[in-house]
Amino acid sequence: MNMEIPVVIFLGAPGAGKGTQATYLAEAKSIPKISTGDMLRSAVHEDSELGRKVQMIMKEGRLVDDKTMLSLVKERIAHNDCRNGFILDGYPRNLAQASALDTVLTPEMKLKVLNIQVSEEEIVKRIAGRRTCAKCGRIYNIYFRPPDFDEKCDLDGASLCQRSDDDESVVRKRLATYKEETLPLIRHYRDRKILQVINGLQAQAAVRKAVLAAVDR
Ligand code: AMP
Repeated sequence: MNMEIPVVIFLGAPGAGKGTQATYLAEAKSIPKISTGDMLRSAVHEDSELGRKVQMIMKEGRLVDDKTMLSLVKERIAHNDCRNGFILDGYPRNLAQASALDTVLTPEMKLKVLNIQVSEEEIVKRIAGRRTCAKCGRIYNIYFRPPDFDEKCDLDGASLCQRSDDDESVVRKRLATYKEETLPLIRHYRDRKILQVINGLQAQAAVRKAVLAAVDR
């Protein structure tokens, strides 16, 4: 029996909407979304050994080393909930990570790479305006999707916070890191003919539809 296991990679600059779209797709396909950024933020929050190691790096908008990232991802995708496929949000981030990922995939796993494209000005606005509910994690944007009441979550009234690396100067640094390290990945996957480009400037529902169509293709 030919059992194909989808492994979806979301590429795109910080703020392109990878996290939001990966969450939708995970629900639609009943497969887990693995966000390396979220995993690292939890580690920082828990003040674990990993958290202490990566805290400064994340604060400065730099990348955590490839070896640490591979062991984190490898351990996560070995969990039972990944057996029918999974979505990677934020990994791989450079060519070395892309090669490392290839070594941990099984022959049944089929890579589908989606690049969500958005302009730089839009990104700065999106990220600098982004706020997250401290309690339920719901995402808002003070420019595009403000809460009903000033800086409070519509669902539970908890305060909204800004990620420490969403500050504008850090956003610019993260964009520079993205251009330097992650753009070559787009070429890499385009050459392998598994890259699909999604226009991230469309309304969220249209992006969602395009993502689903790309994954089912
Ligand atoms: P993100 O939420 O994906 O924007 O990630 C936030 C931060 O976590 C990044 O700016 C990096 O410092 C770190 N990070 C997340 N994923 C990776 C990765 N694959 N490789 C290296 N660092 C990462």
